[in-house]
Amino acid sequence: MLYQSTRSEQEKISSAQAIKQGIAADGGLFVPTEAVKINLTDLINLTYPQRAALILGQYLSDYSASELAEITVASYQSNFADPQIAPVKTLSNGANLLELWHGPTCAFKDLALQILPRLLTTALAKTGEKAEIVILVATSGDTGKAALEGFKDVPGTRIMVFFPNQGVSQVQKLQMQTQEGSNVSVAAVEGNFDDAQSGVKAIFTNPAIKAELAAHNLSLSSANSINWGRLAPQIVYYFSAYLDLVQAGRLKMGDPLNFVVPTGNFGDILAGYYAKQAGLPVGKLICASNDNKILTDFFQTGIYDCRREFIKTISPSMDILISSNLERLLWHLTDSQQVKSWMAELAENGCYRVGQAVQAQLQRDFAAGFASEAETLTTISQVWRDEKYLLDTHTAVAYRVWENYQAQSGDLTPSVIISTASPFKFNRSVATALLGAERAEQENEFDLLQILSRATGWKIPQGLQGLPERPLLHQQIVAKEAMSQAVYNFLKIN
Ligand SMILES: *Cc1c(COP(=O)(O)O)cnc(C)c1O
Repeated sequence: MLYQSTRSEQEKISSAQAIKQGIAADGGLFVPTEAVKINLTDLINLTYPQRAALILGQYLSDYSASELAEITVASYQSNFADPQIAPVKTLSNGANLLELWHGPTCAFKDLALQILPRLLTTALAKTGEKAEIVILVATSGDTGKAALEGFKDVPGTRIMVFFPNQGVSQVQKLQMQTQEGSNVSVAAVEGNFDDAQSGVKAIFTNPAIKAELAAHNLSLSSANSINWGRLAPQIVYYFSAYLDLVQAGRLKMGDPLNFVVPTGNFGDILAGYYAKQAGLPVGKLICASNDNKILTDFFQTGIYDCRREFIKTISPSMDILISSNLERLLWHLTDSQQVKSWMAELAENGCYRVGQAVQAQLQRDFAAGFASEAETLTTISQVWRDEKYLLDTHTAVAYRVWENYQAQSGDLTPSVIISTASPFKFNRSVATALLGAERAEQENEFDLLQILSRATGWKIPQGLQGLPERPLLHQQIVAKEAMSQAVYNFLKIN
């Protein structure tokens, strides 16, 4: 299997090279150039890591079967609180929830970031890379902690995470400031997420820094969600959810299954598209957004228009106006010339239009909808009242969009709602839904964990327990201009 950029036909590279490089030199994303077919019956009686090894083997064909077996077993084991890794829970009303938050940081990014470091270090060995890899991450909350947990103590790598000092929740901040590991560093940046992000981009594109690092046998890399090594592992849980429902007798092998996906950067739902292309009987992929409903509008009109206000919501991991991974889907439907020109239009005018033929193709595989802030809170309290099941805010958006979709389309195909975070991770909003805003605002986030746990009988996940008692290991605050110096200090350069 070879990979190429979404924006040019020129180079074809191996998966190890694509994972090492992260993004193509022309700014495009790496895409697989051949079709994959996966046989469901081969997977049915296997464990999650065994299923992962077989599925990944189709895409990462330069990794050996034994390498992938070893990598997947190491990535999906006791680091996840549920032995099934990605269990499906079925409610009495027939809703199926695929819980992707049993990993160390309680959000679905662990499914990819627990395995990416192992795929990456194996890729370095395969491509003869001698330098030590330095991962830099700017985070608005979830990705930074998941990347730290994934890369901590991984030989041959070091990781530094920057978060906006004012821009993350108390829980998220302490999760990062108490991070253990011999190869990690964390710094708060004075400013907002854009300041942190543009600071990291400036370091990545500075030739003097690159040369200085090279002189110390160090090389920069990124762990963000456009890396193929983060996307490919997400294909696995679509298959595992389907097969688990078949094994539970809730679905007949071969019957269609819809998936509802709370969407931000379009990585998670795109993995569902790859699963469908590889032979999983997926009906519709339902793209769920919050008030930042650029994707709902896109699927309805064929126009991607980011000239709009950015809205801060209670499902912050979906607050995004440029969904990078959409570029991969468009490449699969058209070609690199076309994608390149749309992306140039987006960069220049903030807008592009795909035309009727492509729009019709999109509507064959996808549906889309959004939920408002009020609808999200109501959904959390209703599902708790009726089902005694606790949704986080992101999952609640998807749940509401699913209900609306069923009512509007009449499509009652069995569905899996992807649950992307533990309700305790966004506990202030969840407590607001359950106990009222007045009560939720009185308390600090750590007391709210206890209050929410007592009110519901749900257990606080390990990764969020005892945070205030853990030693603060990373308290530095840096000005935006001082970020590169902070990297040098961490690497003991100068
Ligand atoms: C990152 C994230 C999402 C969005 O996933 P994408 O792959 O970016 O579309 C949804 N929910 C949670 C909790 C997340 O952390």
